[in-house]
Amino acid sequence: MALLEIRTYPNPVLRKKTTRVTEFNDELKALVHDMAETMYDAPGVGLAAPQVGRPIRLVIMDLSDKDEPRQLLVLANPEISEGEGTELAEEGCLSLPELTAKVTRFTHIKVKGQNIDGEPIEFEAEDWFARVVQHEVDHIDGTLFLDKISVLKRAMYKKKCKKELAEKQG
Ligand SMILES: [Zn+2]
Repeated sequence: MALLEIRTYPNPVLRKKTTRVTEFNDELKALVHDMAETMYDAPGVGLAAPQVGRPIRLVIMDLSDKDEPRQLLVLANPEISEGEGTELAEEGCLSLPELTAKVTRFTHIKVKGQNIDGEPIEFEAEDWFARVVQHEVDHIDGTLFLDKISVLKRAMYKKKCKKELAEKQG
């Protein structure tokens, strides 16, 4: 088991088209294990496979409080079938270091997908939970919350990343 490298913007894998998960085998379970370890270590509340360089439709989440037992939710091939109500609230992302900005999301959604064994699952999510699901599902569609913020804030962040990249390359 290992910590995986979290890819950050503008790594092209974050924009790559993802393929459906079709084999629910030991390899997938090992990937989920490593992704969970990476997410808890970061720490983050959600992680999508493209963020660790794997362009497949797989996301994990854990919204339990620090003093609660961990509750890992694994979602393969997730789809949001319905959305209601909207709310503007602050988000961050492990692939967008140092960026927080307000994003509009549905407050109530219906989600379908498959669990780690490939069995169909269906549930409803509200508020913060609904927000995290929408954020992670965006990742497997190649969308970052950067795409949903104000033009000015987005331009500033892109400029900052470009500058940092140029400095790194010396
Ligand atoms: Zn993210």
